Amino acid sequence: MTESKGRQRIFSGIQPTGEPHLGNYLGAIRQWVQQQNAPAPHDALYSIVDYHALTIEMEPGSLDRFTLDLTASLLACGLDPERITLFRQSDVPEHTELGWIFSCVAAMGDLHRMTQFKDKADQNKDNVNVGLFAYPVLQSADILLYKANLVPVGDDQVQHLELARECARRFNRRFGETFPEPQPLLSTVPRLKGLDGSAKMSKSKGNTVSLSEAPEQIRAKLKVAVTDPARLRRNDPGHPEVCNVFTLHGCFTGPANPARVAAIEADCRSAALGCVDCKKELADRIVEQLGPIRDRQAAWRARPDDLRDLLEKGRRKAAEIARATMEEVRVRIGVRAPPNSR
Ligand code: ATP
Ligand code: MG
Repeated sequence: MTESKGRQRIFSGIQPTGEPHLGNYLGAIRQWVQQQNAPAPHDALYSIVDYHALTIEMEPGSLDRFTLDLTASLLACGLDPERITLFRQSDVPEHTELGWIFSCVAAMGDLHRMTQFKDKADQNKDNVNVGLFAYPVLQSADILLYKANLVPVGDDQVQHLELARECARRFNRRFGETFPEPQPLLSTVPRLKGLDGSAKMSKSKGNTVSLSEAPEQIRAKLKVAVTDPARLRRNDPGHPEVCNVFTLHGCFTGPANPARVAAIEADCRSAALGCVDCKKELADRIVEQLGPIRDRQAAWRARPDDLRDLLEKGRRKAAEIARATMEEVRVRIGVRAPPNSR
């Protein structure tokens, strides 16, 4: 695949660690689909990063199924493998190869500062493995293997992307100009909070509304969702700017009906609208909009052979770029002689 003039390259990944949720959708996947459908889309690769998922303990054998399920979800959200490259990370071994080389380039001090490591190490106290610590190095390799310059992600990944830029700079300084410095592309909802109102919505935290959630589950979860903590009684004025439910109205009510969002905002501030009704209305909008995604997801999940074929096509496209980068890298670092001197 060659890059046409002026076209940038996008790379992003998602872990097969469970059902994708509203945070993944609003922070990442929706941007991927919008970018793909733009009038002049960039060249984009999206990867199901299964080796990253090994950093947490999982039932042996489940990663393949999770990968196929996630592929179905991404297709259901509108990714079109004819227009982008969708592939499984472990199908392209150059990711781990470049990952090792970057481990010899990245600074321990930089990795020690990663807040996500501290978070996840806290969450998995009995399994703080080296992979969990070194994960951002492999992620830098994921991105730079394709010489991507744009990375559409949620803001929990911004610190990791700084490491990817640092790996590019350090590598280029030591071995010669090879890699671009990739920039994050943040959506309008770069960090959706979980329904418990405390941390970010995460597959591993169980505070999610997943894209495959049944309507009654969506309604039940929203019923107990945390809103504005200062609004204790029905007649207290609300503060929509700190309310997760209002953020979600912006995403699910806003696009078709911005005037309604403005009215919800005003009525929340004046206490004319209570949280119970506000949540019910939001649940209706989410159920309406996730319905078709859920149906398409189920249809794709019933076709595992087609999903495997799609991933294989994606592998071939990704492997071509990966192979070329690694050939260049091997010469740059000196484990191979330049082609014209062989
Ligand atoms: P895990 O808990 O296993 O890390 P996750 O929910 O964080 O899962 P990832 O696969 O790590 O999901 O992330 C996929 C993409 O979704 C990344 O670009 C990430 O920044 C984005 N993302 C994850 N959670 C949120 C969120 N709550 N709000 C916005 N974007 C998010
Ligand atoms: Mg994550």
